[in-house]
Amino acid sequence: MMKAMILPEFGAPLRLATVPVPKVGPNDVLLRVRATGVGLTVVIMTAVPGRVTSFPRIPGHEVAGDVVEIGSEVAHVGIGDRVTCHFYLTCGVCRFCRSGRETLCPASPGNVGMASDGAYAEYMAIPARNVTPIPAGVSDVDAAIAADAIATPYHACREEARVGPGDSVLIVGAGGGVGIHAVQMAKLCGGWVLAADITDEKLAAARDCGADALVLLKSRRSPTAAAWTRRSTSWRRGRRSRVRSSRWPAPGAS
Ligand SMILES: [Zn+2]
Repeated sequence: MMKAMILPEFGAPLRLATVPVPKVGPNDVLLRVRATGVGLTVVIMTAVPGRVTSFPRIPGHEVAGDVVEIGSEVAHVGIGDRVTCHFYLTCGVCRFCRSGRETLCPASPGNVGMASDGAYAEYMAIPARNVTPIPAGVSDVDAAIAADAIATPYHACREEARVGPGDSVLIVGAGGGVGIHAVQMAKLCGGWVLAADITDEKLAAARDCGADALVLLKSRRSPTAAAWTRRSTSWRRGRRSRVRSSRWPAPGAS
């Protein structure tokens, strides 16, 4: 048996329970959980109908853990490996899964922690294709978060937006758990980053992480992010702009 935080039904609070250690199938691994993220996704899954496919459910999708058992068909990780986990449960054989677009898998039953039990527990079973070894020198906490909050902006900046040197990048929600990493990822890709968020504290965090300009989307008088983007990047296209001499406007400045 093991301790776990379970969501007994939709809308109910999580509660501590003692439940059986999950069994692994031939293509699964069993992890002893070392670290788990506590993020907005878990709040959403507990508040939005349909995200959790059945109850009771153990949340937790940002995971670092030790492999303690492997299924008979598992070859790419072994017992004792320290691994982190991919969020999407996928088939692994369709054209999307085989071309690096697993999020489009038509056979996906859902996500870890929603369609399968997650890591708010001492142990967690997960398909082996969802785990990848953690490099030496990366902490458990960093690795757990990287699988979601860093992999997401990496994909957005490199594969979707294809941010390169000289590109202007607007990041809405720049002070949030994913946004703060998006700021840094866009900078690493060579982008000029305009960070938008709803509090001074969040914008200060974005600035500290390298944002080039800030916009506070709080009051009715605030410009929209789109308007601010046009204005704050027009100088970069060689035209005059009010913000040309103000690369670092104070939060809320317009
Ligand atoms: Zn697939």
